[in-house]
Amino acid sequence: MDYIKASDAILQRIQAMNKRADELQKAGLYFYNQPVTELRGGARVLINGREMGMFASYSYLGLIGHPKINAAAKAAIDRYSTGTHGVRTLAGTLTIHRELEETIAAFKHAEAAITFSSGYATNLSVIASLLGRGDYVISDKLNHASIVDGCLMSGAKFLRFRHNDMESLEARLEQIPDSAARLVVADAVFSMDGDIIDFPRMVEICRKHHAWLMIDEAHSVGVLGQTGRGIEEHFGMLDAIDIKMGTLSKTIPSVGGYIAGRKDLINYLRHSTRAYIFSAALPPAQAAAAKAAFEVILEEPWRVEKLRANSQQFIQGLKQQGFDTLYTETAIVPVLCGEDEVAYRMTREAQLRDVFVLPVVSPAVPPGLSRLRGTVTAAHEPEEIQHALDVITEAGRKIGVI
Ligand SMILES: *Cc1c(COP(=O)(O)O)cnc(C)c1O
Repeated sequence: MDYIKASDAILQRIQAMNKRADELQKAGLYFYNQPVTELRGGARVLINGREMGMFASYSYLGLIGHPKINAAAKAAIDRYSTGTHGVRTLAGTLTIHRELEETIAAFKHAEAAITFSSGYATNLSVIASLLGRGDYVISDKLNHASIVDGCLMSGAKFLRFRHNDMESLEARLEQIPDSAARLVVADAVFSMDGDIIDFPRMVEICRKHHAWLMIDEAHSVGVLGQTGRGIEEHFGMLDAIDIKMGTLSKTIPSVGGYIAGRKDLINYLRHSTRAYIFSAALPPAQAAAAKAAFEVILEEPWRVEKLRANSQQFIQGLKQQGFDTLYTETAIVPVLCGEDEVAYRMTREAQLRDVFVLPVVSPAVPPGLSRLRGTVTAAHEPEEIQHALDVITEAGRKIGVI
């Protein structure tokens, strides 16, 4: 019977994945899904009964646990309670959602903004609601999985260009029939490599070829630009992105995703994006926390500066020891290890000495380019970063990475 064969294939897939995880666990080389028991201020956490320096968090500006943000979330619970019991279009919209969207629009220098319940859902659903069969979407090869999935789901022709290679992008655009609708989409800062997209050239090419430009700012909000407003501020090109996407789960210590842009675009998305129409609204506490966080970024500009100094200390320190950190210029710092096994062993050495970093292996990155991915935040002190550098250096020597 065919359906038995089909379900066997499913079972085999499940068993193969579990076997890989089990083997790593037995070898003491499995580091994923470890629960944090306690946040201990700044950049320290309690994991498995040990206090560790956190070097795997996306809380780039150290806003997690900020008193103003916590207070805003608590006040929202007292006012609106804990859930929304509905989608935004029907009974789910609260005043706090409107306020959050106005705050995001102002922060991103846009006419309007719309929020969704996750960044993943935002990319998936927004790309799929803007494009369809006969259209073209052109995506950087290293774009985040949520973008890739959105491109696939849209049904548009899906073209990829070589990572951060603007000649390759232009060649792709030249392939497209003149009359076809086209969207170019990329991460501002790449989530595995930490490098920044060649934005000025990309904008120029998109304008020349009449393509809409969508940029995912998951790792650039709070990170790039004098006041942390992101890639447009970094390059001094304020209104260059048509579709400004970001998450509320990284620098912003909440959950959710957003799009900022023209009023007519946002209004269209409110009436056509399935993740908005068919999935419940953000809980009030999370919306209030996100709104407060955008305010804190502007009120405490030292955080953006400190993040920049900390990132430089970490990157330069690793380079001086001979590590390959690819082209990172940001708080995401790949420490190249090579084979998966080497990245796992480096992780074990670091965690044994209470530096919490995590490995990224294939298929998340190409085979042979497995790495530790260290992140620094504004909550780290220079001594903590130096300690992490010392631990990673000793591990690298012991294992033969450097
Ligand atoms: C994390 C991330 C997302 C998804 O955001 P969530 O809010 O966690 O769902 C989307 N794009 C990029 C580049 C990311 O790094």
